[in-house]
Amino acid sequence: MLTNDELAKWDRESFMHPSTHLAQHARGEAPGKIIKTAEGCFITDRDGNRMLDAFAGLYCVNIGYGRQEVAEAIADQARELAYYHAYVGHGTEASVTLAHMVMERAPDHMSKVYFGLGGSDANETNIKLVWYYNNIRGLPQKKKIISRWRGYHGSGLMSGSLTGLTLFHQKFDLPLDTVLHTTSPYYYRRDDLSLSEEQFTAKCAADLEEMIEREGADTIAAFIAEPMLGTGGIVPPPAGYWQAIEPILRKHDILLIADEVVTGFGRLGSMFGSPHYGITPDIMTIAKGLTSAYAPLSGSILSDKVWKVLEQGTDENGPIGHGWTYSAHPIGAAAGVANLKLVDSLNLVQNAAEVGPYLTAQMAEAIGEHANVGEVRGEGMLTAVELVKDRDSRTFFDAADKITPQVVAAMGRRGVVARAMPQGDIIGYAPPLCLSREEADTVVQATADAIKEVL
Ligand code: PLP
Repeated sequence: MLTNDELAKWDRESFMHPSTHLAQHARGEAPGKIIKTAEGCFITDRDGNRMLDAFAGLYCVNIGYGRQEVAEAIADQARELAYYHAYVGHGTEASVTLAHMVMERAPDHMSKVYFGLGGSDANETNIKLVWYYNNIRGLPQKKKIISRWRGYHGSGLMSGSLTGLTLFHQKFDLPLDTVLHTTSPYYYRRDDLSLSEEQFTAKCAADLEEMIEREGADTIAAFIAEPMLGTGGIVPPPAGYWQAIEPILRKHDILLIADEVVTGFGRLGSMFGSPHYGITPDIMTIAKGLTSAYAPLSGSILSDKVWKVLEQGTDENGPIGHGWTYSAHPIGAAAGVANLKLVDSLNLVQNAAEVGPYLTAQMAEAIGEHANVGEVRGEGMLTAVELVKDRDSRTFFDAADKITPQVVAAMGRRGVVARAMPQGDIIGYAPPLCLSREEADTVVQATADAIKEVL
């Protein structure tokens, strides 16, 4: 077996990691964890350190680690048929079965699912389909996409442009000219502190409508949003937000793309985030919880309205020129089928609806009054703790102080993994949906102790 030193050397010499300070890593100043095994909510590194993973990898291992049913389904699929493509109407038992299972769970007005590999490429697909849709409808100038500041939609060319976190734009020359970013529905960080939550919702809606009128509705194709902000800060929408936004989109013939990469398959304590908030999207992006990350797979779920136009397009123009080699990969599809069965049989959506709010409530009780805790918030199995320099005046720490990374590191020393969210001092929690109440208590205790140590 390789020694830790040998592995660390290979890692520094050979491996370019995603979302990493490349220079520090290559110099050996910022080594990450090398994880070896995992079971339930716990991951174990090469040295045998066992940690409760309160972020489920990157909020994706929804069913928890080490599920043998999924491992066997993947192995069986690899033995029987490792690959066949899905072009020109081909498929596999696994991919057709998974499509059926996804559509059984999707809202009634949805029609078909297209499978990709990850959330970023699914959003690239969505934007191409939206443009195709408007070209077929004879509206070639209706192409701009509105997303929101602090939205996260991936880091591809278009998906990275849709993302509303400047870190993901910096120095990349992304094609940002077709993307407009509107107000983030983040009440705690509103500019005007005098606004009530309802007034802030009205402002978000007014800002959106003003943007549409300024640009011209005939130039705007779609609005993309996570039902609840994830990577931008884990922020539930302010009261009445979706009920104010959706009618504006309908009035102006703008499609609604609900990016359900995080919220899909139970994370909010509902099967999907869209019905959870009462919205009826035209397209839904799914990934993470589709396979619980046992294999890469994503999807674009299309409504009847969109599907009919796509059909018309191919009747007029021939086969649609869009596809990946690995679309609907049988191993990902087999993982998806086994995963969705477990989500049902283990009652994980229900568990998220019960244990998630318990985690948020216990967290609020333990640290909610601390002078450096601005807000504890959450929905379903998503929780955030926002740290501030001063709670009463709502002043924020300097990013350079690296307060949240320090707190998260202190939690790590106590055996709990949380995430320092990329923008602002926000500790994020998105545990596997199978988290127990005792495990939630462990997460809360580690957070309280780490905050005491650092602040
Ligand atoms: N959309 C949302 C809401 C996400 O949270 C993510 C990833 O975290 C993505 C899209 C991109 O997915 P991927 O990293 O699989 O490309």
